[in-house]
Amino acid sequence: MARFGWRVGSKVQRWGRSFFRGFSSASIPSQLENVGFIGLGNMGSHMARNLITAGYKVTVHDINENSMKKFSDDGIPTKQSPLEVSESSDVVITMLPSSSHVLEVYNGTNGLLGGGSHLGPWLYIDSSTVDPQTSRKISTAISRCHLKENKGYVENPLILDAPVSGGVPAAEAAKLTFMVGGLEEAYLAAKPLLLSMGKRAIYCGGAGNGSAAKICNNMAMAISMLGVSEAFALGQNLGIKASTLTDIFNCSSARCWSSDTYNPVPGVMEGVPSSRNYDGGFTSKLMAKDLDLAMASASGVGFKCPMGSEALEIYRKLCGDCCELKDFSCVFRHYYAGKDEE
Ligand code: NAD
Repeated sequence: MARFGWRVGSKVQRWGRSFFRGFSSASIPSQLENVGFIGLGNMGSHMARNLITAGYKVTVHDINENSMKKFSDDGIPTKQSPLEVSESSDVVITMLPSSSHVLEVYNGTNGLLGGGSHLGPWLYIDSSTVDPQTSRKISTAISRCHLKENKGYVENPLILDAPVSGGVPAAEAAKLTFMVGGLEEAYLAAKPLLLSMGKRAIYCGGAGNGSAAKICNNMAMAISMLGVSEAFALGQNLGIKASTLTDIFNCSSARCWSSDTYNPVPGVMEGVPSSRNYDGGFTSKLMAKDLDLAMASASGVGFKCPMGSEALEIYRKLCGDCCELKDFSCVFRHYYAGKDEE
């Protein structure tokens, strides 16, 4: 804790609790008022809009001008670089595709750390799915920086890795789950901000632990989607409609998110990617990326994940078969050659 320069032990505790108590959706403390948001894609665009709805003053940036225009057309301030975003922000949130994009946004020319070691924002939150090593690298870089202005409540800038689960529908409905790594007091302070975009925020431990939790979650999700898809395809081959099997799974021991919330068989559920030709949602490319991160992290600690490795091979193949921009539930086609529910 001392490493981050919070004032002193007991005072930190009191500050943490009272700061946290003072939050509500109706009153936004000045420490969190100005939020910079970088990465306005499938997820980030909804998350930024939910912050605006909750009353935060949001400034946005994306390298995609069209994504920015949707915000500027609504009168939301846009900036041309991460550095410019940081100049008007207390907190900066990033929601980017992968580790290389996050490193570019932090360390690149006109990146968040491009203005020298004295930073304007006191808190950075990276909600991108990246490997724990990247989160820890950025956390170390931030911990070597100082604040441009004396904030009173914190001495040095802080960072949380706070990846999310829930997908685009949860991002839109502000029902994401955040998995948070970093200093616990920073997590407590940021919790109301996170809960403007989500329904749960779970503290996972020190820097990088949110990212570690996220890649474990996604490895399990990839494997369960494969299992459910394979079972639905087998059922259909044996003469059972996927809708019937879904009813059974959802009140039986095979029930899981892939069967009751994100069913992969076209025509079984409305409002999910499988019912719109697997468009929108969580792309196969991102799933392959997350499995890659999980496998690299596993091998880094000498741990073997046979199911995870198999899932990675299947998702790599899907990407090679021109499905990289389709939702990851399109893996059902891999098993059933694209036959829809009758
Ligand atoms: P996306 O590709 O739709 O959006 C990423 C955005 O970042 C794009 O608008 C892109 O233009 C922007 N971007 C890329 N490089 C940039 C840079 N250097 N500077 C500024 N902007 C840049 O991705 P997404 O689906 O919104 O996912 C974002 C992150 O959230 C990923 O890490 C993903 O793994 C994770 N995630 C996604 C989902 C999902 O269902 N889509 C669910 C949970 C977690």
